Amino acid sequence: MIQFIPLGGAYEIGASCFYLNIAGTGILFDCGIHPRKSGLEALPNFDLIKELPLDFAIISHAHQDHIGALPFLIQRFPHTIIYSTCQTKEIADATLHNAVNILSQNSNSEDNLKIYTHDEIDLLVRSIHGINYGNVIKLTGIRHSGSHEIKLSFHDAGHILGAAGILVEYADKKIFYTGDINLSDQSIMIGCDLSGIKNIDTLILETTYGSTDSGKLGTWNSETERLTKFINKALHNGGSILIPVFALGKTQELLALLFEQMRKGKLTETNIYTGGVGRDISHIYDRNRYITRRGDSGLLLKEIPQQNIFDVEDLNHFKKNPGIVLASSGMMLPGTTSFKLLGYWLQQKNFSVCGVGYMDNETPGYRLMNSKTGDEIRLTEFSELKKVNCKVERFFFPSHSKREDLLKIVAKVNPGRVVLIHGEEKSKNWIGEQILSKFNHIKVNSAGNGISIQF
Ligand SMILES: [Zn+2]
Repeated sequence: MIQFIPLGGAYEIGASCFYLNIAGTGILFDCGIHPRKSGLEALPNFDLIKELPLDFAIISHAHQDHIGALPFLIQRFPHTIIYSTCQTKEIADATLHNAVNILSQNSNSEDNLKIYTHDEIDLLVRSIHGINYGNVIKLTGIRHSGSHEIKLSFHDAGHILGAAGILVEYADKKIFYTGDINLSDQSIMIGCDLSGIKNIDTLILETTYGSTDSGKLGTWNSETERLTKFINKALHNGGSILIPVFALGKTQELLALLFEQMRKGKLTETNIYTGGVGRDISHIYDRNRYITRRGDSGLLLKEIPQQNIFDVEDLNHFKKNPGIVLASSGMMLPGTTSFKLLGYWLQQKNFSVCGVGYMDNETPGYRLMNSKTGDEIRLTEFSELKKVNCKVERFFFPSHSKREDLLKIVAKVNPGRVVLIHGEEKSKNWIGEQILSKFNHIKVNSAGNGISIQF
């Protein structure tokens, strides 16, 4: 019997952390922080496993909602052995340093959180075991009482560089955790590789876009054409375009997309601005271009002409030199570069903001994308009303599977049971109902934080 307990991320996107107890061996899938919460509130509930064995933490990818709490896990459970793909280990170096910066800015003294130094993060990253896609490793916990070994392997999830679905095999049981998964191609990443995933007993499935009606959304290619036309018009009107992006994943995908459209002569040649961690991560994408699956392994992101956002001292520069700014964070969270630039952008009539990725409810990006030119909006609950003078346009360049693609993954993997995670209640409801109506033999569980399931 296998025990499964979500410590975070069961019904939301944030603090993903899922515990498995397999015959006395304790395994965590992911260990993330919540992007909109601060201090202890942002962490998974480690108290839920204080009496239980914990031996291994397996990280699916390096987005902060999947890896950001790792330093705090190691503080509490220092003996935990960590595994990820080699690429996730490489990217973790950038994202974990960043996570510590954010948590130390936001935590208050009552939380009693030990803030890590950058030297300690260096040591933590060095301790991660980087594993190649497809390689099988064997795990045995200190209190393992089973008569079989546990086998673990990573499978390309097509979400961002290094992202993996995690296959765990024990005796005759197979469990597959999708992490964040994308069935469709992006500009750089190509869709997930499920070739080794067969006869699964339990599929632990993310449901990010379960409540998003894909019928209203275009394809990656049609959205590329629409974005290109929109930017051409904005540049023709003398305005700059701000595209809020996650430093990891969306920055590299949009950079490749814009460059390709310029190379084809479809997009007006103009300055592209990038900066910060996003640039460091682009170099990691470049270094791994021949050893990971991708659309065009000849593309070198560092060779795409880019200006550094942080070299711009006076924001009026963007009036005199219209261009495209790729700035993190993707959800325009307070304190980030995209949020700071937005204050200036809102005042400019011929400027534009293009949303391209996932935006959590009530984030400044979400509030902006649900407004139009001429509206007065609050970017955060407590901030003052500001008039939206610029243009606002929403595009859809998903790095997660559309909901119909999630059902295709279920059909392909053909599990006996699906456990739904990483989505709002309405997203999980849509996916759960569809699975029950289309596949008679599949049991469905909607996971809840702190609620144990046996399978
Ligand atoms: Zn992710």
